[in-house]
Amino acid sequence: MNTRFDPDSAAKPAQPIPGNTRKLWHFHGGIHVPDEKSLSNGRALRPLPLPAELVIPLQQHIGAPARPKVAVGDQVLRGQVIAEAQGYISSPIHASSSGTVTAIEPRAVPHPSGMLSPCVVIATDGDDRCAELPAPIDFEAADAATLRERIRQSGIVGMGGASFPTNVKLNPGKDQPISTLILNGAECEPYITCDDLLMRERAADIIDGARIMLHMLGAPECLIGVEDNKPEAIEALRLEATLADDARIHVVEIPTLYPSGGEKQLIRILTGKEVPTHGIPAQVGIVCQNVGTAAAVADAVLRGIPLIERWVTVTGRAIAEPQNFSVRIGTPAADLVAAAGGYSGKVAKLLAGGPMMGLRLQTDAVPVTKSFNCVLALTAAESPDPGPALACIRCGTCADHCPVSLLPQQMYWHARAKDLDKVQDYNLFDCIECGCCAHVCPSHIPLVQYYRYAKTEVWAREKEKRASEHAKERHAAREARLERLERERQAKLRKKKEAITPTAKAAPAAGKPAAAAPTDADEARKAKIRAARERAAAKKAAEVDGSAPVAAEAAPSDADEARKAKIRAARERAAAKKAAAEAEGAPAEKPADAPTQDKPADPEADAARKAKIRAARERAAAKKAAMEAGD
Ligand code: SF4
Ligand code: SF4
Repeated sequence: MNTRFDPDSAAKPAQPIPGNTRKLWHFHGGIHVPDEKSLSNGRALRPLPLPAELVIPLQQHIGAPARPKVAVGDQVLRGQVIAEAQGYISSPIHASSSGTVTAIEPRAVPHPSGMLSPCVVIATDGDDRCAELPAPIDFEAADAATLRERIRQSGIVGMGGASFPTNVKLNPGKDQPISTLILNGAECEPYITCDDLLMRERAADIIDGARIMLHMLGAPECLIGVEDNKPEAIEALRLEATLADDARIHVVEIPTLYPSGGEKQLIRILTGKEVPTHGIPAQVGIVCQNVGTAAAVADAVLRGIPLIERWVTVTGRAIAEPQNFSVRIGTPAADLVAAAGGYSGKVAKLLAGGPMMGLRLQTDAVPVTKSFNCVLALTAAESPDPGPALACIRCGTCADHCPVSLLPQQMYWHARAKDLDKVQDYNLFDCIECGCCAHVCPSHIPLVQYYRYAKTEVWAREKEKRASEHAKERHAAREARLERLERERQAKLRKKKEAITPTAKAAPAAGKPAAAAPTDADEARKAKIRAARERAAAKKAAEVDGSAPVAAEAAPSDADEARKAKIRAARERAAAKKAAAEAEGAPAEKPADAPTQDKPADPEADAARKAKIRAARERAAAKKAAMEAGD
């Protein structure tokens, strides 16, 4: 195919299609390219013989990779779960045939970088024994949750290339009513014809799948969009829709224009609705599924068959007998090429997918996955070297053909200058990498490569930013935890101290030892001291103002009172006697017991007392003399 710009290939507005009763809309841009479908759609579909080895990747869908459930040496059966989904956006993986698990290891998978990815490797036994499958479901009697769970357990993902888990897409939420289910049968990529063959030969299953999904979504209509270059497919679908007698299903023939099979472009063509930037179709009341996905849903719900097989086109002028095969997931692409007669000449370009959006393969030793729809081997004549890229001449042709109404030239400039913020300002992530801009560029600039590079850089930057924010959050959480632990420690300490002292108020100042609680004895002692101080103060005050005798301190006892009374009585008697003597003119008589000054009351006792004093003096003098002599 000549992939260079042809001015006559510019998109024309949608023309009315005879027999189409529905109004169609036209999306901006697009290109007409030679479809090359007749290379492979003339042969009937063939089932590929079982390969000797199946290599089944654990990551065949958007979201978390599946986790292996088997070990090396395990015997497995066809349809057995060999890896389970991890989380909501994930999908389980099933064994495509019976055999022995010989390895769980990284193997080459379909990827432009030729990267390795973990795979379960099964040596098939040729018996193709089947595991016990779940029972069929009467979908009209089942609720949406039951059907979603069956679809999830069957490992169904979008088979048009996006690989998004189908059960998630069929769960738009209660707040999001769905008015239209769209089945994508456009298959707009040149060369690929597997959906065309599927629509011709499994139209009944596609209609059944549509009815199951309409029931799940509660949607009033289903539009199956098919490009007008597939008349047999359109006829087969219309026949089956009529047989199903379901007035909700409409098979709509649309003009052949690349990329009408893009999700947003097909929604625009069939409904006139625009999915918002960064939005999803459910936001405008639409769910879009591939026709192959619809057939897989019918298999899972009505027959209990998980997704272990798909239809694949093997084509290109470097293939001897281009055709379509039904293939077990995990079959090496090389087996398909061999079944198609092998390579017929020198392969200039080997792709997984079509020439516009396919992935360049380094080798055909990669396995077929759930979204793998084509092995395309192009000769040099089909894929001429465009030569070196020239300078942009600012012609604007790229913008004229962009189906998303982007500005490819500006995106190119900023991506080339590595100005990632600017390139995002031009809605880089709305680019569907359809390749229309590069196809029409007269300067042969590989524009899509620049956009892919910019997207990868932005993702890497975002990843780094998220990792850094995560690290910051972890650091902040650690600091907060340490602070909390310190607070808890201090609180425990305070509680302990409060348990020792009666009140928090009485707690000692920091650094001082805690005082012991006062005992009753302490209190009594302190009370005595206080009383003594008060008495002393009262006494002192009395002495100062002369209102109390100096010695009057303690309360007089009864003995004191008696003694004082005796003295008073004696004094009164003496005074009375003296007064009586004076009244009679005689000197007053001393009482008998009162000692006189001139005459001792008892001379003998007085003499004895004096003798004692003398003797004591003499003893003292003698003692003194003896001490002096001793010196
Ligand atoms: S990128 Fe190519 S098509 Fe776009 S303006 Fe430049 S020369 Fe023209
Ligand atoms: S590759 Fe992107 S920018 Fe180019 S035409 Fe397609 S959507 Fe537009």
